[in-house]
Amino acid sequence: MYIDSHCHINFPELAARMPEILAKMADNGVTHALCVSVDLPDFPQVLALAHEYPHIYASVGVHPDYEDTPEPTVEQLVALANDPKIIAIGETGLDYYRLEGDLEWQRERFRTHIRASRITRKPLIIHTRSASEDTIRILREEGAAPEAGGVAGVMHCFTESLEVARAAIELGFYISFSGIVTFKSAKELQAVALEVPLERMLIETDSPYLAPVPFRGRTNEPGYVAHVGEYIARLKGIPVEEVAAQTSANFFKLFNVKEAA
Ligand SMILES: [Zn+2]
Ligand SMILES: [Zn+2]
Repeated sequence: MYIDSHCHINFPELAARMPEILAKMADNGVTHALCVSVDLPDFPQVLALAHEYPHIYASVGVHPDYEDTPEPTVEQLVALANDPKIIAIGETGLDYYRLEGDLEWQRERFRTHIRASRITRKPLIIHTRSASEDTIRILREEGAAPEAGGVAGVMHCFTESLEVARAAIELGFYISFSGIVTFKSAKELQAVALEVPLERMLIETDSPYLAPVPFRGRTNEPGYVAHVGEYIARLKGIPVEEVAAQTSANFFKLFNVKEAA
């Protein structure tokens, strides 16, 4: 069994094909998926999917790349997270690659999410791009680590260095690899994945984006997370069953999800 720890199946290109998407998950042994919120206007759809399908879970949060969107307050996130199918806060974080200029609003929004995570005891889904130093610094300042009273979370779609992975793991976070790790050009990231212990690893699709080899360039979907798992197994030279079992166990542990949906 595999779990897609990060997807956007509420996006129109996937939401319109739900029966097909669920069938492909079943075919590939993908038992659960976490549908991740990117803004507040989309949240009702995300929550509706999680309520409709027992093995689909959801998060609440506002993505750092969404500039012209309602800004969440801590109280709002806490209230929206008050549902058994909402298992995480995010995606949140910093992205200095997509946006330029004074990004103080991004850092403030990130702090809001960390505070909501500490109150709700629901882990963070972190998006970080070209901003790893500030990301780690703010996680420390806001007490995201369990030893600082937080509940940690996951660094999703990880593309940073081994040093950043180690800093995140030290803060109690998991590292999640997407289809990017299967790309021929991703030599540095493959070296990082080799070093990250399986006990701290999750796998994801980030669908509809970033389809893994052999589907690169096509619309991604949760069923394809199996290809990420198979790649990690080959890379580490361990049985694919071990990758599937451990990354699934990590998911259940981090997000406090009971295995039987
Ligand atoms: Zn992201
Ligand atoms: Zn995402």
